Amino acid sequence: MEDAMKFDRLLNDALEDINDDDHVGGNINTPLRDDAFEQSDAEKIKSIEKDVIRILETLGMDLTDDSLKGTPKRVAKMFVNELFSGLHPDNKPSASTFDNKYKYGEMLVEKNITVYSTCEHHLLPIVGKAHVAYISNGTVVGLSKMNRLVDYFSKRPQVQERLTLQVVKALQEVLNTDDVACVIDAKHLCVNARGIRDIDSSTVTSEFGGAFKNPDVKKEFLGYLKLDTSF
Ligand SMILES: [Zn+2]
Repeated sequence: MEDAMKFDRLLNDALEDINDDDHVGGNINTPLRDDAFEQSDAEKIKSIEKDVIRILETLGMDLTDDSLKGTPKRVAKMFVNELFSGLHPDNKPSASTFDNKYKYGEMLVEKNITVYSTCEHHLLPIVGKAHVAYISNGTVVGLSKMNRLVDYFSKRPQVQERLTLQVVKALQEVLNTDDVACVIDAKHLCVNARGIRDIDSSTVTSEFGGAFKNPDVKKEFLGYLKLDTSF
């Protein structure tokens, strides 16, 4: 009995470790509170500025120094207007689609889309490439739409698995087809620069929807990628 309890506790600890360090995210939706957008962006910047002042002061920094004076406001603006601007639904790229008048029925792949995101466990950068593909069922999107969608979902506190799923789901909705796939290959600075300090490792995540679950289709897509890890 005691052994069973001990095992449970070990298992729980192990699961917590996995959640802590291995970036496991269970839900496709970014965990937001219902009141997430009650404050305006300007109010959020003011509030975060005060928080950053507190963090830096707690660390012992002299905020009257010329070099540090502007930092709290700069960080607050960067959080709201840039790094985390993809939290706000108003910033979602518009969903303009076109008829597939060329009757192009093959796979379309947009490779090497730059990913700049932020790991939500450490608030450190995730930098990498996304590769997105779809097979049109009569609707197509402008090519830059895929880049914009990746950028929108990247600009949130993220886990890479969720980012991959969010990109696929958004494109499935826009294109009205399940036949969408996304592979992301990215470096996490929380792994590369701290903790285990593995500079060379990168994380690959993938989601294959609809026809992309077919091994031949998946193979064709991955063949176009020949994953380039030189970023
Ligand atoms: Zn992290």
